[in-house]
Amino acid sequence: MAIAHQHPFALYEIDSLLTEEHRAIRDTVRKYVDDRVKPDIAEWFESGEIPARELAKQMGSLGLLGMHLEGYGCAGTDATSYGLACLELEAGDSGLRSMVSVQGSLAMFPIHAYGSDEQKNEWLPRLASGDAIGCFGLTEADAGSDPSSMRTNAKRDGDDWILNGSKMWITNGSIADVAVVWAKTDDGIKGFVVPTDTPGFSARTVPHKMSLRASVTGELVFENLRLPASAVLPGVTGLRGPLSCLSEARFGIIFGALGAARDSLETALNYAATREQFGKPIAGFQLTQKKFADMTLALGNGMLLALHLGALKDRHALRPEQVSVGKMNNVKAALEITRECRAILGGNGITLSTRSSAT
Ligand SMILES: Cc1cc2nc3c(=O)[nH]c(=O)nc-3n(C[C@H](O)[C@H](O)[C@H](O)COP(=O)(O)OP(=O)(O)OC[C@H]3O[C@@H](n4cnc5c(N)ncnc54)[C@H](O)[C@@H]3O)c2cc1C
Repeated sequence: MAIAHQHPFALYEIDSLLTEEHRAIRDTVRKYVDDRVKPDIAEWFESGEIPARELAKQMGSLGLLGMHLEGYGCAGTDATSYGLACLELEAGDSGLRSMVSVQGSLAMFPIHAYGSDEQKNEWLPRLASGDAIGCFGLTEADAGSDPSSMRTNAKRDGDDWILNGSKMWITNGSIADVAVVWAKTDDGIKGFVVPTDTPGFSARTVPHKMSLRASVTGELVFENLRLPASAVLPGVTGLRGPLSCLSEARFGIIFGALGAARDSLETALNYAATREQFGKPIAGFQLTQKKFADMTLALGNGMLLALHLGALKDRHALRPEQVSVGKMNNVKAALEITRECRAILGGNGITLSTRSSAT
């Protein structure tokens, strides 16, 4: 069972499918994660607190925020580069990839795609550099999978808009400088660019999370929040707006989930090679090798799919249902791989110290 001993990406010759620029971006982000994230991630996870502003500035200076957007201080890379960056970030922690996905694909993308020149000039350069943090408010406590049932509404008052309602499970919600909020109006669902220091805006952090602990999740409340006419995103009306943003973010998850899987697989391979039971390393048992062989195939196939979808996106030919296929396949594969890897680590699989010492 020779494949069990090879790194999946080496077996599939993934590097041969990447350009020099792809490899350079991947290596830069991997080094950043190794140097600046992995040493502290266990502590951030355990405490449920992350130095979000510091991380945003570091990732902004690396060009990772809104990196696949053009202009306004954004790096303007191709989609595959963005995916590879997501993969390396999620090899550090899903919370870190989540932060970059939300900033780039959910806060910056709608302003870039549907915003006025004034909105773009005001927010995009600061969001790209990490000097400002953005969030995306679509989900509500009673409107999750079905966002059309949202209750948050915006009503005209002269030229102004008055926003009322609340949003739940909002990544970076309680630390953001600006929120892109989706609300019902008499003309359909519209997006609003809301500075979080506007009177009538309040936010709290959701406590006691069991997952995504190294990520800030918040609840936003709008009470008679008055916005000027210029706050509305002029370029889109209806659910098409927020759904197009979710498609952008899902694309990053197609790659990102594989980062969590790859890091788990590398950790488990190292562990199995040295952990001895019944007189030999557990990697020496054929049953363990079968597990590694299955995981190698799932990870390698997921990577081929991700790169194919990235190439389609770079040709502007990627359809939303293809993004969903990629996300479904790769998240499922990543869940199965990470669960199996945790089992291979036995008791040590449920401690944070194993992870940081083994990787
Ligand atoms: C950590 C975290 C961060 C998040 N960040 C953001 C953010 O930044 N911005 C934002 O707007 N939202 C955010 N969300 C919200 C996320 O998008 C929602 O959780 C998601 O849309 C699901 O909504 P829900 O949790 O209300 O679940 P529900 O919609 O209530 O679903 C519950 C279950 O029912 C299933 N289900 C739903 N409909 C059907 C159906 N028709 N048939 C069969 N099964 C169905 C679902 O698959 C799920 O298993 C975040 C959530 C989390 C947990």
